[in-house]
Amino acid sequence: SAPAPGPKRATILAVCNQKGGVGKTTTSINLGAALAETGRRVLMVDFDPQGSLTVGLGINPHALELSVYNLLLQRNVDVDEVIVESDTDDVDVLPANIDLSAAEVQLVSEVAREMILSRLLDRLRDRYDVILIDAPPSLGLLTINALTAADGVIIPLECEYFALRGVALLTDTISKVQERLNPDLEIVGILGTMFDSRTLHSREVLQRVVEAFGDIVFHTVIKRTVKFPETSAAGEPITSYAGTSPGARAYRTLAREVLARCHAR
Ligand code: ADP
Ligand code: MG
Repeated sequence: SAPAPGPKRATILAVCNQKGGVGKTTTSINLGAALAETGRRVLMVDFDPQGSLTVGLGINPHALELSVYNLLLQRNVDVDEVIVESDTDDVDVLPANIDLSAAEVQLVSEVAREMILSRLLDRLRDRYDVILIDAPPSLGLLTINALTAADGVIIPLECEYFALRGVALLTDTISKVQERLNPDLEIVGILGTMFDSRTLHSREVLQRVVEAFGDIVFHTVIKRTVKFPETSAAGEPITSYAGTSPGARAYRTLAREVLARCHAR
């Protein structure tokens, strides 16, 4: 279809859960790649000092001269010198490395410390259709910055016992950010990840998540498959590493759901 007239305004989505290992980075990379396949211009922001999104897109975090850290905490850094064009697929990346771990402390003494990322990404909104932020596994200032910058939050939940533990704390944090910093913030959806259809256990957990959150839960569920760890090692999204695999198809379906929900906003 023809592009809409006038400047584009990217939708900014934060992928958040303070628990580690639930599929935030995997979802950021593969949802981003699936959105790019539809022709959307996508920027992925690695906002975790572990730099897993950066690595997962085939970029060496140790070799970076500049990263999202420099944009956050230094003046006069040109964003175009930090953005990396990922070559395996059509996405741009704001990469991160361990430098970002210092930001959590250094941001504390900044003026409007919760809004630094928001101000940075607002300047990029007219260049992209979607900006995805891969949040770190904590509820500290980096995550608050991600939530303040975002229009919507995607919450990956591992289909394991105790998955729901900690979600109340996350939704509380989201509510506080809505009240104090970003009234337009919405939860776009909760995504069941690492689902194992062969176990009763996985099905029970998913059922409880749906009972607790209803329509907010995406219809798409991401199954557990060794393909995902393989793709991280290969440094590319599943949509290019194993383009016809069920995992690639699941993230394409998720992309359609996300677009439908964002257009309905
Ligand atoms: P987070 O960013 O929340 O810490 P990751 O996306 O890095 O989580 O996932 C944690 C680990 O689990 C990674 O090794 C990743 O490759 C693997 N993983 C993610 N999603 C799946 C899945 N659906 N099936 C199997 N392994 C997965
Ligand atoms: Mg991660």
